[in-house]
Amino acid sequence: MAISVLLVASTPEPDRTVAAAARLCYSNASAGDLVEEMKGEDISRFIGHLRGSGHLSPFEHAVFTFAVDGISRVCTHQLVRHRLASYSQQSQRYVEMTQPEAVIPPSISSDPVAKEIFTRTIRESHGAYKALVEAGIPREDARYVLPHGWMTKIVVTMNARELHHFFSMRLCRRAQWEIRVLAREMLSLVREKAPSLFSLAGPDCVARGRCFESRPCGSPFSSVEEVLSG
Ligand SMILES: Cc1cc2nc3c(=O)[nH]c(=O)nc-3n(C[C@H](O)[C@H](O)[C@H](O)COP(=O)(O)OP(=O)(O)OC[C@H]3O[C@@H](n4cnc5c(N)ncnc54)[C@H](O)[C@@H]3O)c2cc1C
Repeated sequence: MAISVLLVASTPEPDRTVAAAARLCYSNASAGDLVEEMKGEDISRFIGHLRGSGHLSPFEHAVFTFAVDGISRVCTHQLVRHRLASYSQQSQRYVEMTQPEAVIPPSISSDPVAKEIFTRTIRESHGAYKALVEAGIPREDARYVLPHGWMTKIVVTMNARELHHFFSMRLCRRAQWEIRVLAREMLSLVREKAPSLFSLAGPDCVARGRCFESRPCGSPFSSVEEVLSG
């Protein structure tokens, strides 16, 4: 099963909400009036100004919830290191792992010998898991024999400020391929929903015009479109 990422919920009119919240800082008008008043062009100009000046707290008013299926526990372990977010992950304590299901990295799936070793090991681990469960071992203990690449499902909620930070780290070529695939899907979804907030999002080479890594990859992206094309 391939990765699937859905945007299941988000702040209605995220661009407008962020722009109106930020305008409130500099206006006598009420937040309600500002939400009504702001026009499309004002909104994108204002959001551009916020990004440029580093006044990013208004970005926290726009929130996005994603349902992610078909990723590995390797990837979710990297994902949940991002602390300014909320997570709900399928439990291996309560849900029995009935099938051998793991994410196969491209370096392995493209090599027939490696793929055979990998799939055999996954099947064997799952066989050991089933045997332990059948012998009365609790699922929460039997799962210790399952590998890192085991497939999982997770729901994640992040605000737009944290998403920018997440994209800057996880769309960089130095991040691992699987979380980059996840981050690309997430960016593509939020760009549809909030084009002004995410017109310029991605690794620092794109979003900030230069790389801050001590060991740069040597092939910076030239545009968000290039990042999204993989
Ligand atoms: C390419 C790559 C390689 C990595 N390799 C490793 C590795 O080898 N080992 C490893 O352990 N991790 C590794 N990581 C994970 C990394 O160290 C971070 O834990 C992860 O990316 C989450 O980022 P964060 O802490 O900036 O952000 P978040 O948790 O998303 O927080 C966002 C920002 O909020 C602020 N913040 C959040 N919590 C605190 C706090 N408690 N105190 C102060 N400020 C806070 C910080 O400014 C932070 O940048 C790697 C990440 C990448 C992208």
